[in-house]
Amino acid sequence: AHFGFQSVPEGEKAEKVYKVFESVAQKYDIMNDAMSLGVHRLWKDALLRIMNPLPGCRLLDVAGGTGDISFRFLEYVRNQQERLLRRTMRKHQTPTWHEIAASYTSQQATVLGGSRAVVCDINKEMLKVGRQRAKDLSYGTGLSWVVGDAEELPFEDDQFDIYSIAFGIRNVTHMDKALQEAHRVLKPGGRFLCLEFSHVSNPVLSRIYDAYSFQLIPVIGEVIAGDWNSYQYLVESIRRFPDQETFSHMMAEAGFFSVRFTNLTAGVVAVHSGFKL
Ligand code: SAM
Repeated sequence: AHFGFQSVPEGEKAEKVYKVFESVAQKYDIMNDAMSLGVHRLWKDALLRIMNPLPGCRLLDVAGGTGDISFRFLEYVRNQQERLLRRTMRKHQTPTWHEIAASYTSQQATVLGGSRAVVCDINKEMLKVGRQRAKDLSYGTGLSWVVGDAEELPFEDDQFDIYSIAFGIRNVTHMDKALQEAHRVLKPGGRFLCLEFSHVSNPVLSRIYDAYSFQLIPVIGEVIAGDWNSYQYLVESIRRFPDQETFSHMMAEAGFFSVRFTNLTAGVVAVHSGFKL
């Protein structure tokens, strides 16, 4: 039963994935830190640096789960806006920075320059944990939570400047459909960004990584979360995910231009980027 996910027929995949995330939701964040030894935080920070969002931009974070990417997005945009303000102040040599900063912090929406992030996930339990985290961390302004399937997004065409999907697309049954939907909801000129486990090409590193992931991750899952099966699924889904080149081709097929990828940690993870023209 521990290896029950290997032969899951396509028709049952969505249901299995739903159950996995329903059962890990409460422990999801702590498990991410435990299994990646905290490195997932650096990968997510790297995604934001590549995204480099400007104040005013609208993000759709699909498979957004408990909100990690959207929280980082709001933080990043706020810092950008502050930097821009400081630069303007210096240029005009106005000594009223503190007054202006005070008025801006009282209108947080202005601090974000009108930016908004929508966290969209198929799993209500993950979103519930995310909403509570947002409350605890005081991320309210500029954030909304929507239940939705990456393969059939509940949004109109041409709505978002950026579409992100972090550690999400490998869970989707039909990746080609999810890519088409991403393309549809992006504005012309908008950018698709995907952070996902990928393929390590260095043979020595690859062997070490395989040993860690295949043998240790389900054990850590069992010890910390009492849930071997969900973490066995995690490892299998990582192994089945297409390599960097193949995924780039899939993006191009969905209509994205200027497709490129950046490997992180020797390709354990990659960020793919592409634009809608
Ligand atoms: N992006 C978050 C992060 O990086 O921490 C969460 C990633 S978590 C590994 C994967 C998420 O994908 C889960 O919250 C799951 O519910 C969601 N998911 C799976 N299939 C989906 C689908 N078809 N549409 C939208 N979300 C989906």
